[in-house]
This record gives sequence, C-alpha cells and structure tokens, in this order.
Amino acid sequence: MSKNFQEIPMAEPYRIKVVEPVGRLPRAEREAALKRAGNNPFMLKSEEVYIDIQTDSGTAAMSDAQWAAIMTGDEAYSGSKDFFKLEKAVKEILGYPYFFPTHQGRGAENILLGTIAQAGKWVVSNQFFGTGASHLVYNGARCMECVCDEAHDNDSDYPFKGNIDLEKVKAFVNKVGVDNIGFFIMTCTNNPGGGQPVSMANLKEISAYAKSIGKRLFLDFARFGENMYFIKQKEEGYADKSIVDILHEFTSYSDGCMISAKKDGLVNIGGLLCMRERELYLQCAEREINFEGFLQYGGLAGRDMAALAQGIHEVVKDDYLEGRIQLLQSLGDKFDATGVPYLHPVGGHAIYVNANRVYPHIPQSEFPALVFACELYLESGVRCCEMGSLCKGFDPDTGEQIYAPIDLCRLAFGRRAYTSAHYDYVAEACRRVVEKAHKRKRGLLFDKEERTQSCRYFISTFKWAE
Ligand SMILES: *Cc1c(COP(=O)(O)O)cnc(C)c1O
Repeated sequence: MSKNFQEIPMAEPYRIKVVEPVGRLPRAEREAALKRAGNNPFMLKSEEVYIDIQTDSGTAAMSDAQWAAIMTGDEAYSGSKDFFKLEKAVKEILGYPYFFPTHQGRGAENILLGTIAQAGKWVVSNQFFGTGASHLVYNGARCMECVCDEAHDNDSDYPFKGNIDLEKVKAFVNKVGVDNIGFFIMTCTNNPGGGQPVSMANLKEISAYAKSIGKRLFLDFARFGENMYFIKQKEEGYADKSIVDILHEFTSYSDGCMISAKKDGLVNIGGLLCMRERELYLQCAEREINFEGFLQYGGLAGRDMAALAQGIHEVVKDDYLEGRIQLLQSLGDKFDATGVPYLHPVGGHAIYVNANRVYPHIPQSEFPALVFACELYLESGVRCCEMGSLCKGFDPDTGEQIYAPIDLCRLAFGRRAYTSAHYDYVAEACRRVVEKAHKRKRGLLFDKEERTQSCRYFISTFKWAE
C-alpha cells in the first residue's frame, strides 16, 4: 500500500436498523406551543420538538447487541448473570475492584457523598456538577472550585480546560488548613465548564498532592470515554495507546468514581459507584441497601445491567469516539464559518453558544441564553438548554439573582441518536437565529417565578419584556 494513501474521513460508524419517526410542527404551531410552555423549553412536550439537543443524558441510541442483552436479562434478586457481566466490565475497562450499581449518577453521589462527606469540611474540585455539589451541601460539607483560568476564557483553545489549578488548590489548603479538607473530586470531562477534558498530567499531579496530604480523590466520571479520547488526541505520549490502557492509567490515580451511565454508559438509565478500598465498599454498602437496592442490582433491572455492561465495551472503541467527536467538531467549524459565537474549543458532548455575544444589547437580567433557546425553537423546532444566569439561580442568603460569567446555551447531542444531516440542520438554524438577533430588542422576564432553589429553572414561566 502506498505510504501516501490517505483514507476518506469516515462517516458514522453504524447503520440504522430501527427508526423513531420525528416531525416538525409548522411555525405557527411552534409559536403556540412555546407560548403554552411559558417560554420555557423545559415545559415543551417532546412531540412538539423536531431535534432535541437539550441534553445528552439518557438520550443515547442503544446498539443491536444492547437490545439483544435486554431480551436475555437475568432478573434474579441476587447472583444475576448480568451483575457479573457488569462487574467484569467495571474491572476490565474501568479498572476498579469494587462497585455498586445505582439507578443513575445522583444515586452514586448519594451513596458515596452521604457516607464520606463531613459537616464543615471542604471538598475541592476543578468544578462541581450541580447534583454533586447539592449532595455535599445537603450533608453539611462545603465546596471549593479551583478550575484553571483558561476555563473562563471564551476564546482560548487550550486543550485541557477541565484542568485544576494546583497552585490555587495549595493556596486554599494552606489558608483553611489540611484538617478542614475532606477530599477531592475531579469532574472529567468538565460538564459545567463546557465538556472540557482533564489531562493525564493534571490528574496525576492533583492525585499525588491529595495523597501527600492524606486525602482521597474521586472522579465524577460520566464522560469517561470522551475524556480519554481527548487525551489520546491532544496529550503527548498517548496517540498510540488504546483507550482502555489510557483509562486504566487515569483511574489508577483515583480512589474511586461516580458515574452517570446515562452518558458514556450508552444506556437510557443507570449509574455506577466504583472504588478501590474494601473498607470503603463496606461503609457504603449500608446506604446502597437503604437507598438503591441490594448490592447486586442497586436500583436497576437485570436487563439494565446487561445493556450497561455492553455499553461500557462499546463506548471505548476508537471508531465510536472519533465519529462522536467529529460530528461536534464539524458543527463547530460551521459555527466558525458563519459567525455563531461559542465557547472554545468544542466539548466532548456539547457545544455551548455564547448568548451574550449573540445579544450584546440584552442585559443578563433578561436571560439572553433563554432568549436564544426560545428563538432557536421558534426558528427551527430545535430544543436546547439554557446554561446561564437562569440556571445559576439565586443566592440563598440574599435572595438575589446570581449572574453567570457567560450566559451559555448548551447544544448537547445524544450519542448515536442523530445523523450529520441533523447537525447541519442545527448549524443552519443557529446561523439564522444569530442573523436575526438584532431584531429581538428585549429579553425575557419571569411571568410566574417558582422560587425553589432546585426547580425554579424547570418550572417557572416567562414573558417577553416590552
Ligand atoms: C449527569 C451528571 C451527573 C448526575 O447524573 P444523573 O444520572 O443525572 O443522576 C453527575 N455528574 C456529572 C458530571 C453529570 O454529567
């Protein structure tokens, strides 16, 4: 074969065997639907949406092998063959000796954080995902984020914006004292920070530091495959290693992990709590039994564990990961070409539109990212997700609105769920929204604000400011 031979870039590494028809309502009906939903896309019915990129959570398309596993699920209370399949996948692919199945990611958080979080002690992270932070607060612990400065720079193409800043960590630990530190959590990829990866070197560094002061380090690891793919692509020394080998090295620097399997588990529901120490496993077992279920099913049906075990094998395949990241990358390229502003570089599971740049004339108090989400739905029937000031919520002490550093709107794609033609449709829809942005003079105000910390964002309604 000629040395100069270059392959054509691959299309999606799967073909479609089952389809779910989706339709697009006419513009007038979309207007009526959004009005009925109180200008809150969360309140739309799924049937009113053409392309749903609100979240990548639980929205994956399962493979033929996963569906086959569902049909042969072993529903025994204990000793299910699917528990052992899952155990094998956790050991061989993720590299942890002990684990509990859980009903989803926050189930794993409840078990681990409820067991080890201590009142008044600080838990230090690159950045916390919302459910993890609220479990910590619920248990009386305090949260400190030390993500690197590059993470806050919209235009920086720094490849590992999920990294923690070790100098910031050391300064913080010295300030509050080692005795007031509980443990460390690294979110990989960093979902709240744009789906940006953590480098191997950074994890190794923080792990060594945590050890040196006698603290444990856990991974919030919903997107374990995507983070490893970025290391393979962007970090020196990993190009020729397999994803599984990279994953083994990565997890070797941690004491355990919490996984929402609705992401890189390639299933619609499920979670995992994995760990190294038997002692910790036994400590957590009580909460697992009280809140999730018996040790060998933890809130899942046997068939769910079977699909998850298979999903863990599929998500670490190079072809799969390359196809996934390529689709998002080409959407980013289209945004670059047509002037849709977004947080750089493209993340692993989503692209985040910078709504402050789309609507520089709309103040943060009128929720520019929600404006973008509403306009995108009206223009195209595409549903995305506000991740700006509305999502930030209000200060529990003063009751005042907290403003996000950037009002981002997240376009998160379910794994294997949409084709490149759908991505192109989204690119054109966003281009049109940006082109017409100057016509939208004002933003959105609360019509009926539901003043609860965790639900305001999902169930409040909004009206257009005059
Ligand atoms: C989704 C997610 C969770 C919570 O998982 P659920 O399955 O939604 O309960 C925790 N951490 C991260 C990083 C996530 O993306």
